Amino acid sequence: MQQRHAAAGMSTADMPSPPAAVARVVRMASDPEVNAEKLGAVVGSDPAFTAELLRTVNSAFYGLKLPVTSAQRAVTVLGNLALRNLAICFAVRDALRTSGFRAADLEKLWEDALRRGISARVLARETGVAQADDAFTVSLLQDFGMLAFLRAHPQEFQHYDRWRGMSPEARRDEEKQRFGASHDELAEALGVGWGLPPSITDALARHHEPTPVGGACGANALARLAHVADIACWLLAARSQASVEALHAAMKVELGLEPKAADKMMEPLAREIRSAASALGMRVSRQPSFGDVMAEANRALAQMNLSYEELTARLERSLAEREQLTQRLQEANAALERLAYFDPLTGLCNRRRYDALLRDLLLRVAVERRSVSLVMMDLDKFKAVNDSHGHAVGDAVLRMSATAVVGACRDADIKARLGGEELAVVLPDTDADAALAAAESFRAAVAAGSVSTPQGLLRVTASFGVVTFEGGGTQVDVDRLVQVLHDMCDKALYESKHAGRNRVTMGGVVREPS
Ligand code: GH3
Ligand code: MG
Ligand code: MG
Repeated sequence: MQQRHAAAGMSTADMPSPPAAVARVVRMASDPEVNAEKLGAVVGSDPAFTAELLRTVNSAFYGLKLPVTSAQRAVTVLGNLALRNLAICFAVRDALRTSGFRAADLEKLWEDALRRGISARVLARETGVAQADDAFTVSLLQDFGMLAFLRAHPQEFQHYDRWRGMSPEARRDEEKQRFGASHDELAEALGVGWGLPPSITDALARHHEPTPVGGACGANALARLAHVADIACWLLAARSQASVEALHAAMKVELGLEPKAADKMMEPLAREIRSAASALGMRVSRQPSFGDVMAEANRALAQMNLSYEELTARLERSLAEREQLTQRLQEANAALERLAYFDPLTGLCNRRRYDALLRDLLLRVAVERRSVSLVMMDLDKFKAVNDSHGHAVGDAVLRMSATAVVGACRDADIKARLGGEELAVVLPDTDADAALAAAESFRAAVAAGSVSTPQGLLRVTASFGVVTFEGGGTQVDVDRLVQVLHDMCDKALYESKHAGRNRVTMGGVVREPS
């Protein structure tokens, strides 16, 4: 036993040991052979212990109707187990007092020990799964191993408040890391050293794993109570939703209790902790009622939900902002596209876009044996419009003409401004006759349009050239084809001008050999 925790730099020699008188009482009270009379005689032979015992038994904690005035009577009234219980309490208290801890730290250790002990006692009494005094003893002592760690490494006390906020399992894991051993291992050694019976030392050893894998559920009721009491102690310190949930889960698993019944059982906790502390002459901080602790934990949960809602709202806001940004980006991209592809004055495709679309179309049309026609248009005597009405009116005439042509087009047609007052329309799947008819409708639309000027309505006309390409089912040299088609169309347009303007001239049909 002495070498067992050598890695942690401590041994059971670091464990507090009970004063001899207490040790004797503990040993005798645990021995079924020893009757009340014999025990009373032993207790009575120690005046200091007897005085302490009588003061405690007559305190509010026991609520006796008649005062007890002798050790013998105290032993009879309390019974062996309660007496042993009290003896251990005294010993634990004295061990704490003489451990050299600061008063504030001592109070925390003591408070936690009592919270565990009283929780287990209340639960044992209410459920009947174990003897209440045994349950108290086990739980009072279950974290006593911590005392040894803290005596050996006093600087570690700085973590104690943080440990109180942690679940028993997480705390035990950290202990193992820091000290190389955990308090349940030490508590067992402590119990053996104090002469406690195996039922109690066994529970001390197993309180973190009360139900061994594959073992019967009822194997160790004291360990199960200690386990639940440990979580109750965590809840009293942390007052968190996690600890509430853990307590309810443990109550259900270890004791078969539903949350409502479990909460009700815990109601007398605060009062009993207070009276136990005062009976033993120890200070503990104000103990909140179990109901208040639960309410606080639920408030914390409500606040968590609130901040969850707030987070959700924030997330929604930033998603909306991102959507707005995306929309603005799309708008900016669309504007860029317009700039890159379209002529700002007329809204028609610009030269670059026209070239690309025409080339794509010709490549497809050629191999698919389809036809495509090209109509080119140039405003008649447009220079004169600018000269006599000004550039702004000239622009208005250009816009009006473009609108007139677009109005006479199909959606699939490619409408472009090639430059100056020259427009072009590419007509997919349109043969020579249909292209001539389309060009004629463009001509009529421009001639029918007008622009208002200070001098009255201004009308213009335009001249047109048309050319048609018939795909032959083979690939084409598209650069050469574009050149040929434009030359022919230009020529036809020039012919229209030459023949008196405001007219359409067919430039011819280009057929690729099949
Ligand atoms: P034709 O019937 O032979 O085509 O005679 P025209 O006067 O239309 O031909 P010309 O090529 O001599 O003149 C074209 C005029 O178009 C010259 C130029 O100032 C004008 N022009 C070109 N682009 C624009 C423009 O964007 N806005 C305006 N207002 N005028 C333009
Ligand atoms: Mg011109
Ligand atoms: Mg012109």
